[in-house]
Amino acid sequence: VAPVDLAAILTTGEQQSREIMLQPHKQLIVASYVPFHTQEEFTDTDFSSGVLIVLHDITKERELIRIQQEFVANVSHELRTPLTTMKSYTETLLGGAMYEPETCLSFLSTMEKETERMVRLVKDLLALSQLDYRQVAWRKERMPLHELVTEVVNELRVKFGQERRTVTITLPAEPVWLCFDRDKIKQVLINIIQNAFKYTAAEGTIGVKLTADEQTARIIVSDDGIGIPPEDVKRVFDRFYRVDKARSRDFGGTGLGLSIAREIVEAHGGSIALSSEADIGTEVQITLPLAGDEGVWACENGSKQ
Ligand code: ADP
Repeated sequence: VAPVDLAAILTTGEQQSREIMLQPHKQLIVASYVPFHTQEEFTDTDFSSGVLIVLHDITKERELIRIQQEFVANVSHELRTPLTTMKSYTETLLGGAMYEPETCLSFLSTMEKETERMVRLVKDLLALSQLDYRQVAWRKERMPLHELVTEVVNELRVKFGQERRTVTITLPAEPVWLCFDRDKIKQVLINIIQNAFKYTAAEGTIGVKLTADEQTARIIVSDDGIGIPPEDVKRVFDRFYRVDKARSRDFGGTGLGLSIAREIVEAHGGSIALSSEADIGTEVQITLPLAGDEGVWACENGSKQ
């Protein structure tokens, strides 16, 4: 950092500023050096002029700007790849490939897949932005969670059809009552359980367990799939973060599923945690508060936005 000439600030009357990084926490500070002159009659000290130093911690602002820039760069990159494919395939088709039925069919099916991916990406981005700007109209109702867990697992079983994964569902004897937005929590369960399917071999084992104590319900989704290396575990909830981009893309992944799930769970007053070991498997725990006995009224009024 260039030294500050206080005498020059006083003589020129021009303000100066410096950016300083404080170790060890890497706080970013802006120091503003402002000259001042006090009128004699208002002071009984000898200082009639001097330099006032104002310190402003801008660490958070800078971090937010960095996250925003990274987000825009990520979105542009994610859209550019399918758009480039669409453009070159369209040109090739128009250039004559459309008259070769086999090529035409293969190109069109790739284009359909790429379009679906873009639609999914835009949908996920919209969902995140609604959650960010608190524009979600929550429809929380008091109901049991059992049947939703089974419904999601069955839908995914159909989706992943022929593959012989063993999926076990463990439910408690008594129904577990929660205040929740059915569509949104269904989305959370799809994102998490679908990941277990996607990142587990076709012969793998997946467990979905629902438990409850006096105050909380816990949904535990475990798999014996490819797992996540330790250095990536803490980043998988970051937007667009994917351990293996190619593998995620093959399954139409956007890298936004876990961040959406976390936002929704937190808006229900709950939390979500993931632990994993490479080549051993992954476990995701969703914790949600139980609904009281007060009925629908308490549910709506107690909802956290
Ligand atoms: P994606 O659309 O890529 O699946 P997610 O946000 O759902 O995005 O997950 C982020 C990344 O976390 C995935 O790309 C994958 O690398 C990793 N991941 C998530 N769940 C699992 C799992 N059950 N097993 C292994 N890796 C996982």
